[in-house]
Amino acid sequence: MRKPIIAGNWKMNMNPDETRAFVAAVKNELPDPSKVESVIAAPAVDITALVDAAKDSVLVPAAQNANDHESGAYTGETSPKVLADLGVKYVIVGHSERRGYYHETNEDVNKKAKAVFANGMKPIICVGESLEQREAGETEDWVSTQVEAALNGLSADQVQQLVIAYEPIWAIGTGKTATSDQAEEVCRHIRETIAKLYDQTTADATRIQYGGSMKPNNVKELMAQPDIDGGLVGGASLQPDSFLQLVHYQD
Ligand code: 13P
Repeated sequence: MRKPIIAGNWKMNMNPDETRAFVAAVKNELPDPSKVESVIAAPAVDITALVDAAKDSVLVPAAQNANDHESGAYTGETSPKVLADLGVKYVIVGHSERRGYYHETNEDVNKKAKAVFANGMKPIICVGESLEQREAGETEDWVSTQVEAALNGLSADQVQQLVIAYEPIWAIGTGKTATSDQAEEVCRHIRETIAKLYDQTTADATRIQYGGSMKPNNVKELMAQPDIDGGLVGGASLQPDSFLQLVHYQD
């Protein structure tokens, strides 16, 4: 019922030539989009190359961030309206690197999610706990607070269209994947949180990704969990071969 969504988050890697070469290498090998959605979130400076190269393919272009305003005096920022005009479909919002290094708050994440919807795109909203929070037993409370704040003011219909990415910070870029049980436990908790905030129909429709050292060798087990509907993948999305193995996890 929920279509799996595997999204590569390239972070600050790749240039336009590398973007075109990557897309050329994967575009004719992607899975049937009625079975798995294949997404790449490129740096803003590569979006034009990504969209052009992905034209006539099932690869879905995404961005990694957007401002919550459409235009104006916001030096160095990226307009969600322009991203939409260029052909972007999803925007990652509230990645832990943006929360950590650039001090994005839950309120910023909520504003950005609304701006993404206002411009006809869908947010991939990231949540997740630090190692200290996990060890202190605070994971579930922390993650449900992040979810509730991010969704504040969104309609049930919008929540059914967005994606939540559960990314434990301690698993990002560390090679330390959460076990499938650990990942499932929090993804189930996120679904229960949405059910409490909205209703069961909404919770059942919302897609929840796991992110944090997802690789071709662990994607199958993670995706087999009932509340994990996709992956948000950093390092393993940078090579065409491993991205293809990830999106073809069902084969
Ligand atoms: P890695 O897959 O490199 O651990 O990164 C995960 C991530 O942060 C995706 O957004």
